Amino acid sequence: HAPHIRPIIRQLDESTANRIAAGEVVERPASAVRELVENALDAGATRIDIAIDEGGKRLIRVSDDGCGMTAGDLPLAVSRHATSKIDGSDLLAIRSFGFRGEALASLGAVGRLTITSRADGDDAARIAVTAGRVDAVRPAAANRGTVVELRDLFFATPARLKFMRSERAETQAVADAVRRLVMAEPWVGFTLTAGGREIFRVDAEQGELFGALQTRLARVMGRDFIDNALPLDTERDGLTLTGFAALPTYSRGAAVAQHLYVNGRPVRDKLLIGALRAGYMDVLAQGRHPAAVLYLTCDPQLVDVNVHPAKAEVRFRDPQAARGLIVSALRHGLAQAGHRASSTVGD
Ligand code: ADP
Ligand code: MG
Repeated sequence: HAPHIRPIIRQLDESTANRIAAGEVVERPASAVRELVENALDAGATRIDIAIDEGGKRLIRVSDDGCGMTAGDLPLAVSRHATSKIDGSDLLAIRSFGFRGEALASLGAVGRLTITSRADGDDAARIAVTAGRVDAVRPAAANRGTVVELRDLFFATPARLKFMRSERAETQAVADAVRRLVMAEPWVGFTLTAGGREIFRVDAEQGELFGALQTRLARVMGRDFIDNALPLDTERDGLTLTGFAALPTYSRGAAVAQHLYVNGRPVRDKLLIGALRAGYMDVLAQGRHPAAVLYLTCDPQLVDVNVHPAKAEVRFRDPQAARGLIVSALRHGLAQAGHRASSTVGD
């Protein structure tokens, strides 16, 4: 029995702390792409171009035409817990995708990050961060907006590098992550290129939200889905539900796309998935899953998005209200479309 030596408590240096935090923020190339596209959306971009090589393992590049950053902003942007999106007084009312101020610091800690940016009325500038080491800001040439390049993701964290899957699997995950945001942002145009090959391209949709969403979903999910889906657009107790839910006749046996958004944020939420299932109860055969894209919006005070570092989960102040709205809208819509559940309609 070895004598126990009292350990020494140390403050971790910033680069180690960043690498640890990066483990939660950036799981794989798709999560890095998601963080960068969300930043572009938060910057008000109307056009976002995404390019990856080797599934994002070798290169991820996200270019936007958003507000850009000044030379003075750049060192702050890559430091941890620095954000322009909240000031600490508004944690209960988050309106942006970002707010943790961790993504760029994390990406710079685990790969080779270069940010080139130009804000209106300012000269373009560039900063580079390699495995946590931040270089001086340099002048650059660029249009208004931002280009973020991340090379050799996880080269600085070999343990994580080992968990990367094949180029094909990582490319698929990136495309899925981008598509989820493409479906939430109909007024923004996107391109995604993998290994020089264009995966998809959508121009910004025009017009009011419902019509723009419908056009965007027809492009992403297929015309077939929209033509065979119930349109939903309803409001109750300060919660709004918009979207499209496939008619039972359209539903396919295999795993089908179910996309859920809360205040524009893609989420995978057990409560909402359960509500979707309950809405179809008795009209869909066992083992079949409805395809649906549902957008819930409410006052940001009524939902906590600060539950999970990747922000995939949310917590409603009144979960039963959110569930009830989805279940009753689906049952009502399905009944009107002639798919009357035997005894459950009319809650
Ligand atoms: P967060 O998004 O949580 O604020 P990030 O680390 O992702 O944290 O970004 C830090 C800051 O850098 C942002 O708050 C924003 O001010 C700035 N920033 C990041 N990406 C962009 C971009 N594409 N365009 C303009 N500013 C950006
Ligand atoms: Mg961010």
